[in-house]
Amino acid sequence: MPIFLDRIMKYYQLIGPVKTEKGVSFEYVSECDKVDLDYLGHTVLPPKKFFFPPIEEMFAYEYDETGNLRIYDFLEEVSKGMRVIVGVKPCDISSLLVLDKVFTGEYNDPYYTTRRNNTLVVGLTCNKPKEYCFCTYVGSGPSIKKGFDLLLSDLGDMYLVEVGSEKGWKLTKFNLDIFNEAENEDIKERERILLEVEEEIRKKGLPNFATIDKVLVERFLDRIWDDYSRKCLACGKCNFTCPTCRCFTISDEPNPDLKSGKRFRIWDSCHFLSFTKVASGEVFRKDRPSRFKQRIYHKFVYSINEIGSISCVGCGRCIEVCPAKINILDVLKEVIVGGKSVSAKVS
Ligand code: SF4
Ligand code: SF4
Repeated sequence: MPIFLDRIMKYYQLIGPVKTEKGVSFEYVSECDKVDLDYLGHTVLPPKKFFFPPIEEMFAYEYDETGNLRIYDFLEEVSKGMRVIVGVKPCDISSLLVLDKVFTGEYNDPYYTTRRNNTLVVGLTCNKPKEYCFCTYVGSGPSIKKGFDLLLSDLGDMYLVEVGSEKGWKLTKFNLDIFNEAENEDIKERERILLEVEEEIRKKGLPNFATIDKVLVERFLDRIWDDYSRKCLACGKCNFTCPTCRCFTISDEPNPDLKSGKRFRIWDSCHFLSFTKVASGEVFRKDRPSRFKQRIYHKFVYSINEIGSISCVGCGRCIEVCPAKINILDVLKEVIVGGKSVSAKVS
């Protein structure tokens, strides 16, 4: 693998999972032996940050002496250079497919689209799930059929490589001396490993999420939302670590001369009181339960109307980071099997 990565670095900027003090994190890599393809489950933050950064300078503006407005669009910077991101797990690849529907669908976001077009994705199937992974229940792992240029599977003494696109095929071409034709036995071994992972995740015995949207609609006024929102600290960590959360705010920062400045796009959280504040000062989700519910309903109900699928890929990050120990699976289980009736709340 180091030879392959080393050759990639001759032509592309390489991004990969590397060990840091805070856990394994996707970073730009200058030494290929820093890439850790043995990481368990998921990275701290998803690869989303390389396509939709936490803070992004969109453009700078300036009025010249004659009063004409000049704009410098940072999109030009975004367009420079090709990148390869390696070691992306199936749940995170699925999350990029969700983001694609949002940012390249009805409304095309040129910043996101340019980065997506400039970046090849080399995926990595999962050999062992992390404690909170539930990809199998939402159909996003431990393997995947699309969304990658190459897909690696670690078979112990070698990697099985599946080609997913013409660009991926080209990546293998300048590495033909290190690739051999895969044997049927290798493919079967991959299937065996994936089945093992799937069975391990299935041991969680979660309920079927197929009709979760309908159940959630029925339980919109349930008491559980009050109960959970009393625990929630509204810190937004669940949003900021989620690979599919894509809400942002826009901030204009004028310079002291008031003739120039910059516009930024910054990740936002539906848990924040300021999230639905509008110009008149009105806040549409003032009470905590309405904000707590929003993340769950957006993922599992509104998203189906918006993009035709739910927006949770079962990575488990939000469960792992929540300081209030709120587990989205407990919430959903409670909604499915233990939810109280609407009348209980109304009375
Ligand atoms: S991470 Fe937990 S406490 Fe923080 S906003 Fe999300 S659910 Fe609430
Ligand atoms: S809601 Fe939680 S489990 Fe689902 S994709 Fe987001 S972070 Fe992962």
